[in-house]
Amino acid sequence: MTHSTLLLAQRLLRFDTLNPPGDEAACMAFFAEWLSEQGFAVTLTTFGEHRCNLVAQMPGTRPGRPLAFTGHLDTVPLGYQAWQYHPFGDDVIDGRLYGRGSSDMKAAIAAFAVACVNHQAAIRAGTGVVLLITGGEETGCDGARALIEGSELPEIGALIVGEPTANYPVIGHKGALWLRGETRGKTAHGAMPERGINAIYLAAEALGKIRQFEPGAPHPLMKKPTLNVGRIQGGLNINSVPDHTQFDVDIRTAPNLQHATIRQNLATALGETVTLSTLIDLPAVLSAEDNRWITRVYQRCQPLHAQPLSAKVVPYFTDASLLLPALNNPPCIILGPGEPDMAHQTDEYCLLSRLNEAETLYGELIDDWQTGQWDG
Ligand SMILES: [Zn+2]
Repeated sequence: MTHSTLLLAQRLLRFDTLNPPGDEAACMAFFAEWLSEQGFAVTLTTFGEHRCNLVAQMPGTRPGRPLAFTGHLDTVPLGYQAWQYHPFGDDVIDGRLYGRGSSDMKAAIAAFAVACVNHQAAIRAGTGVVLLITGGEETGCDGARALIEGSELPEIGALIVGEPTANYPVIGHKGALWLRGETRGKTAHGAMPERGINAIYLAAEALGKIRQFEPGAPHPLMKKPTLNVGRIQGGLNINSVPDHTQFDVDIRTAPNLQHATIRQNLATALGETVTLSTLIDLPAVLSAEDNRWITRVYQRCQPLHAQPLSAKVVPYFTDASLLLPALNNPPCIILGPGEPDMAHQTDEYCLLSRLNEAETLYGELIDDWQTGQWDG
């Protein structure tokens, strides 16, 4: 690994980009300047106070579509447990780079950015590269949503998402449908409950039905869809009959399931006492295993793994849910140096050995793409 990948990863880690609350402005401004200095054409856009995305382009001279990389600069909060290492430091200990966002996914961003710089001669003589760097991913792809709604994205031929996979090529992930259910009752004095309608009791009945609800049939690769009630709120004080509750349902789906159908079926199962609204609707992602470029990526990744690679998907969602449809659904691979188990953990780290591998791997994929022979 060149010194610069580690250095860049460390500089990105020193910015607090915890989301919530969400503030990527300083980190994004630093990175925009860094990319400009390296010869990228950079467009920085905002989607709220201190909320930013950027698109960086390094065009080639050969006719054809560029290769795109994407990553998010926001991170999840630190959690309640105390950290042994500085979450916004850049400690390197026993071959591990520590910090919030090291695995998910600032190290990956550093690796592909430096790989582009190191391979810029090939890029300039080839079909080019595009970097789509987002904020607001961890709260449901807010940045990516703003990016596709607010600007004309460049045409691209393939997309690499640097989310943590320990450098294993992943061809897809589940979709997410987040719904909010609400029940309404009638308030009354807690000493005279017969005069009211208790919205918590209505919610309790609804939750029993949700627990039994099957969102749909299993997918051969992604298996069964899942459902979880992650949050509930209701009632204002102990001595009143509550007249309102809300609860949030997190459904993870596969490409064989339509979100509109799931929502309709759940609404039917719950009946009229529950009002449903959609908080987030992110489709599943799945690339064709036999796509020529995907098979090439597998060839490049194989030497890094002892076992023969096979088609693999992950349960978490990524910005690809929104970016792919907006980019006319190019083939997409999720491939990053971070440890999947380290994402969102206390004392998050990325292995330097993986970071090293990723920089080389991204470089090979960049060079492959520039020849034009793996597009389409
Ligand atoms: Zn992530």
